[in-house]
Amino acid sequence: MRILFVTPYDNNYRYKSAFTKSLSYMPLTMPYLASLTPEEYCTEFKAIDEGVQKINYEKLGFYDIVAITAVTSSVKRGYELAAYFKQKGSYTVMGGHHVTLCPEEAVCHADTVMTGPADRIWREFIKDYVNGTPKKRYDGEHCDIGAANVIPRRDLMQKSKYIFAPTVIANFGCTNHCEFCVINSFWGGKYSTRKIEDVINEIRSLKSKYILFLDPSPTSNPGYAKAFFEALIPLKIKWAGLCTTDIYENEELFDLMIRSGCIGILMGFETFSEDSLQESHKKNKVEKYKAVVDKFHKKGVSVLGTFMLGFDGDTKESLLKMPDYIEEIGVDIPRFAILTPYPNTPTYKRLSSEGRMISTDWNDYDSIHATFAPKNYSSRELEELLVTVSNECYTLKRIWKRAVKNPYGGFLKLGVNLGFRIYNKRAARTLRKDWSRPS
Ligand code: SF4
Repeated sequence: MRILFVTPYDNNYRYKSAFTKSLSYMPLTMPYLASLTPEEYCTEFKAIDEGVQKINYEKLGFYDIVAITAVTSSVKRGYELAAYFKQKGSYTVMGGHHVTLCPEEAVCHADTVMTGPADRIWREFIKDYVNGTPKKRYDGEHCDIGAANVIPRRDLMQKSKYIFAPTVIANFGCTNHCEFCVINSFWGGKYSTRKIEDVINEIRSLKSKYILFLDPSPTSNPGYAKAFFEALIPLKIKWAGLCTTDIYENEELFDLMIRSGCIGILMGFETFSEDSLQESHKKNKVEKYKAVVDKFHKKGVSVLGTFMLGFDGDTKESLLKMPDYIEEIGVDIPRFAILTPYPNTPTYKRLSSEGRMISTDWNDYDSIHATFAPKNYSSRELEELLVTVSNECYTLKRIWKRAVKNPYGGFLKLGVNLGFRIYNKRAARTLRKDWSRPS
């Protein structure tokens, strides 16, 4: 049996340009699914990540099963691929964030849909498929996570297309309840961890000095995080990953995090408006932003901060102050996104009930386009604000200050800043083209 895994082209990819490699990390869903497939059933796997590969599907040959994993901004391409492979006679399966949030929609496009984590249900599906009784829908549960203890088949991926650090996941979900967050809706607010021993063995097997952790909220369970960081120390690796701003308050955990080899952190600051934080149920404290960045800087750790535009608490004036505020708190690499109400998240439900959703074209759900009517300005103005704020934050002068003058600067940081400057410009060009189209 031959199985093809595809991660469809995501609209976001069009902004990466020449920096695709430095801005792309290896996705793990396809390698995990391959490892979860019972050996006796599969003779050949192929994995395609359209974000980094150009493929001529006509030359690919026949695959019995084509499994497609999609997020909202890639799902239309995913549906296109499902139709193509169905017509070729393959059996199509779809899963991933968007499919989990909108299974009734996905089921019209694929032979089988899978919601939630695939750890258990992928194996169940394969057995049913072989017996000729595949179901239309399989629902995974958070308690399935890690039970299979498999090492993802990274060898199926084109390693050279991604940043040098291999990706690893130790825990899933998040105990916070940010209203806009797709992770939360995907995992139903639940949080699961893999056995520390299994993760450590996997890291050892990678034989890499650098690791990129994809865990959405690694410190949600401080007890687990503490034990995990302790277990990392003897490995002497350097790692980057995500973290919430409340790490500021946990001295012991912070210390262990640093000793375990942390060199880069991605934090969702989202906004400088207390009203917006309250509206989105984000537990950040604006008055601690600078202190938390300083704390990481003192240990030589770079901070990539993400910011969101479009909350009801935002005004044009408050958004235009963002570049100065960001410079003040000292974030090394700022990233911007328009608040995107992904389907069936609480934000989507709220805005829908208020009659404020203006687009259900999933291609627009790329964090660059406004898909809803903001409160204090128009959706077009919101997109213009994104362009203005990100351009202002990425002037060469500000990049120089962030990446070179800063004592924690480095060549890598300068390169990433320049990469995002180009990314922003390409995103702005796309928006301008859209604005010039007759509506
Ligand atoms: S802290 Fe991050 S992962 Fe957790 S709910 Fe909020 S945005 Fe989502």
